[in-house]
Amino acid sequence: SLTSGSGDTFHHADVQKNIVPFQEQNVDLEDVKFGQRFTDHLFIAEHTEGAGWGRPQIRPFSQGITVHPAAQVLHYGMCCFEGMKAYLGVDGRGRLFRPDLNMQRMYRSSRRLMLADYDPDELLECLKELLRVDRQWLPEREGYSLYVRPFMFSSAHSLGVGRPTRSTIAITLSPVGPYFSTGLTPIQLFLDEEHVRAWPGGVGDCKVGSNYAPTILPQSHAFKKYGTPQVLYTLPTGDRSDPESSVISESGAMNCFFFLDKADGSGQALITPPLDGTILPGVTRDSILALARAWGDIEVSEAYLTIKELKQASQEGRLREIFGCGTACIVQPINGLIRANGEIIAAPFDADSETTMTARMTRALTDIQYARVPSDWSVPF
Ligand code: PMP
Repeated sequence: SLTSGSGDTFHHADVQKNIVPFQEQNVDLEDVKFGQRFTDHLFIAEHTEGAGWGRPQIRPFSQGITVHPAAQVLHYGMCCFEGMKAYLGVDGRGRLFRPDLNMQRMYRSSRRLMLADYDPDELLECLKELLRVDRQWLPEREGYSLYVRPFMFSSAHSLGVGRPTRSTIAITLSPVGPYFSTGLTPIQLFLDEEHVRAWPGGVGDCKVGSNYAPTILPQSHAFKKYGTPQVLYTLPTGDRSDPESSVISESGAMNCFFFLDKADGSGQALITPPLDGTILPGVTRDSILALARAWGDIEVSEAYLTIKELKQASQEGRLREIFGCGTACIVQPINGLIRANGEIIAAPFDADSETTMTARMTRALTDIQYARVPSDWSVPF
């Protein structure tokens, strides 16, 4: 099962700390690219078959991590990761957003790769310890945060393509500003009808490294040709005679939502593709669905959308908004999908309006993240 294991784990109460003084940063995060600065410490624990988990450590980031040249991760991509953020709330407390969901997803990913078992609740407690140690790194500005990157990989010294007998789990912290420098101004995405990100029976619903490596080339080509920062993947449904029967999947690092007037005139609907195993179950996606369902004024559905349906909605002026969502960008308005044949599926976005679904959703999420609105989703550390 991907949700339970042997019960073997490291414990946060055993964390050994080797602390160095806070290094004054004096960097303007606006000039720092995503994920290129790191705090002073990292969390790490190692498991070896037979010996079990070694003592978990919080130690200087500058020590790095040493891996054996035969470590399976270097050859077979046996690794998984998470992405979450720590925010400084308006109440002065450091806060995580729904960290239990990230920990559960990380656990599922690691079980899929047969990495060592551990207790996800213990990992969350270790993360809180690390955040308290590096607390001075928590940016104070709205829109800024500490990006949290838990990861786990096979450090087994073996070229055999086999079950990992040694696993390393670690967490690093990286101060970040807004993901897309454009903020709430819309971007276009390239609608990729050639490459497939994930497929039925695959691992699209796990955050494993091997889902990401092959996305760089399509993304670079699209950027070069169309200037789009990410691509939106599609999945053929099997009808080769009709390429527009492909369904919309998700983008390289965001789930996607479509807000449209229904064809039968019966109101508006917020739609995102269903979790059928080919989509990453995004924490932001889940939160948006829950918020929109609680508002109760629009229809919310997890349903497939074909290229044809989107095209038609756009042509008929019914495609109100498209937005991507994920931990890094939170919500990103998208005003058009560019196809390889030059066609654009347009969804004009009014960046000045405060009543768009995109703006409303951004506000609702950030109000919770920065604790302007009390919520169980915001977990202090
Ligand atoms: N899809 C993919 C492929 C991603 O990598 C991410 C980022 N984790 C997301 C969607 C968004 O997920 P979340 O809201 O949990 O960050």
